[in-house]
Amino acid sequence: MEKNLLHTEIEFLKGVGTSKAKLLKSELNIHSYYDLMHYFPYRYVDKSKFYKINEIGNSSAEIQLKGHIVSIKEVEQKKGKRLVADFKDDTGNVELVWFQHSKWLRDSILLNKEVVIFGKISEFNGKLNMVHPEMDFQTDEKKSGISFQPIYSLTDKLIKNNFNQRTFLKLFIELFNQIYTIIPENLSDSILKENTLISRKEAFFSIHFPSNYEKLKQAEMRLKFEEIFYFQLGFGLRKVERITKFRGNPMLKIGQNFNDFYQNYLPFELTNAQKRVVKEIRQDLKKNIQMNRLLQGDVGSGKTAVALLSTLIAKDNGFQSCFLAPTEILATQHYNGLEELLQNMNVNVALLTGSTSIKQRKIIHSQLETGELDILVGTHAVLENKVLFKNLGLAIIDEQHRFGVAQRSKLWTKNTIPPHILVMTATPIPRTLAMSFYSDLDVSVIDEMPKGRKPIQTIHKKDKDRLALFGFMKKEIAKGRQVYVVYPLIKESEKLDYKDLVDGYESITREFPIPKYHVSVVHGQMKSADKEFEMQRFVRGETQIMVATTVIEVGVNVPNASVMVIESAERFGLSQLHQLRGRVGRGSDQSYCILMTKDFISEDSFKRISTMCETNDGFRISEVDLEMRGPGDILGTQQSGIIDFKIANLVKDKQLISITKNAVEVLLQNDSNLNKEENSRIKNHFLTYHKEKISWSRIS
Ligand code: ADP
Ligand code: MG
Repeated sequence: MEKNLLHTEIEFLKGVGTSKAKLLKSELNIHSYYDLMHYFPYRYVDKSKFYKINEIGNSSAEIQLKGHIVSIKEVEQKKGKRLVADFKDDTGNVELVWFQHSKWLRDSILLNKEVVIFGKISEFNGKLNMVHPEMDFQTDEKKSGISFQPIYSLTDKLIKNNFNQRTFLKLFIELFNQIYTIIPENLSDSILKENTLISRKEAFFSIHFPSNYEKLKQAEMRLKFEEIFYFQLGFGLRKVERITKFRGNPMLKIGQNFNDFYQNYLPFELTNAQKRVVKEIRQDLKKNIQMNRLLQGDVGSGKTAVALLSTLIAKDNGFQSCFLAPTEILATQHYNGLEELLQNMNVNVALLTGSTSIKQRKIIHSQLETGELDILVGTHAVLENKVLFKNLGLAIIDEQHRFGVAQRSKLWTKNTIPPHILVMTATPIPRTLAMSFYSDLDVSVIDEMPKGRKPIQTIHKKDKDRLALFGFMKKEIAKGRQVYVVYPLIKESEKLDYKDLVDGYESITREFPIPKYHVSVVHGQMKSADKEFEMQRFVRGETQIMVATTVIEVGVNVPNASVMVIESAERFGLSQLHQLRGRVGRGSDQSYCILMTKDFISEDSFKRISTMCETNDGFRISEVDLEMRGPGDILGTQQSGIIDFKIANLVKDKQLISITKNAVEVLLQNDSNLNKEENSRIKNHFLTYHKEKISWSRIS
């Protein structure tokens, strides 16, 4: 009964009517009472009182404080100056920040005179600050008497139809009159108590009608908690299901293939990190449970060797493996690499991509089915329904972010008992996020580079430095090294004045003429045979320069290449820049990454470029990326939808994420199917609202 009332269509709410209902539906996607209740204010204004600095914390409310500005200074930045002032009351201090700096602004700030400031407080590097505060030095009678005001976002169309903040206020009063008493609790008593959370109905009420700052913070905390909690519970239950329902393909022994290769043919000694990860994988493979492991390792950290050793364990136990790469070039390279490493061994490897001939395909299909083939390397082509294995035991997916979840789940159908899954990636997800978020993934990390690598030097240069750049490239080539030059676009675009590949190729061939120099070119619109041909010339060292678009982004391995020039670097995202940079620094020589940009670039671009110049640590880079872009972008479009949180924020609420994850783990340890009476609210809520949402993602 109760649930039904919450799901009443919005037109039945007093004051809504047909035309408003239509608008609410089309403009804000609010169809029911339940939707309206979840339409949270995006900011709050509280001029009802003066707050003390020691009462405040992270919250979305805008509040007023009374105190003094005791000092002010200009801080130089690459993009103009920033003004920073120190504001104090008798309980603490807050930094005031202005990014747009003007003489007028500076003159208007009176030191050591009582002032009321108004704005949103946030915490940055452990300090409280307020950006672009409103200031008023006339402080005599400031309390406006207006209490805490929630502000909802509106669209142009709503405003045109006289829909305003007052309208919302009326709707919410009406809504809560009807539903307040029946908003059901959905967390167990013990979780509420342990985490000092307020009740659900109180939280919904206070998020729309906060009586004070403290209440608002409690409401935000409670609702963020439940939002993240249920998201993680989905993964947690998925894991329970995987462990209990699906059997694994147990690979109990380390046999001749593994040992022979490890002792006789592995061309280097594994790093300690690689050894540790191989052990972790080995432990998983032994079990009668399907492995679902994410292997994170920076570019060049040696993930491929780990993958290869895993496939040999599979072979030793009578299983086949497949190895998926996102592009044909990469798949081909992996294939060639495996063939070479395995040349003295009795292991059969084949390559299957979109350009494999029909004749060849037929052979591969049949060899897969008879079990003659041990390892199939390939692109998406491997996922086609026609591709059947005799006994697929292990699937390795390189560079995870290029594959959608739906594609990956196809792998599950390739064997009666689904294969173990190892996903390898060079840091699209910051470690903290991956570990604390995906309860259904086990994570291995290679956090050590092979010995003898020198850190890549990264340098920011501008168009005017181009002659010096050419000189530098010539010097490196004279030492026998090779150079990549990467462009963001293939054809000139009218709107953007970015250097494009065609132009660039011309100027490079002019500057580096035959017969002294030879230049390869690879881009996405070439036929794959041509790409392959050009790639191979560079791999064999016949060309000194490789001009390319981002098709070479992932995985390409030419240890003799020591310079990566990235043109229009301001156009690339951080993770892409990092991936590209990882193409060099693979040999023992000092390597360089040169980021070319226009003379003037945006603040965001500058932050990306300077992050690249400061650090080679892919995990650090992904943290910055996460802060700048948000998780949706990082996890890829296919997955961003599921992290469309209404109130929680994956960057700001890191701490809460680990608390909720812990709560989920404890809950499932004690009651893995949520059958206990004390957890019935959780179960009901999950079944009603969350089950559908995640059922498509079997592999996270
Ligand atoms: P990624 O993790 O980016 O996929 P790769 O597996 O392509 O890295 O390895 C990068 C390079 O390092 C390859 O040339 C590989 O042969 C080499 N390599 C891997 N592991 C080691 C090691 N333990 N010692 C020396 N070189 C290694
Ligand atoms: Mg790789």
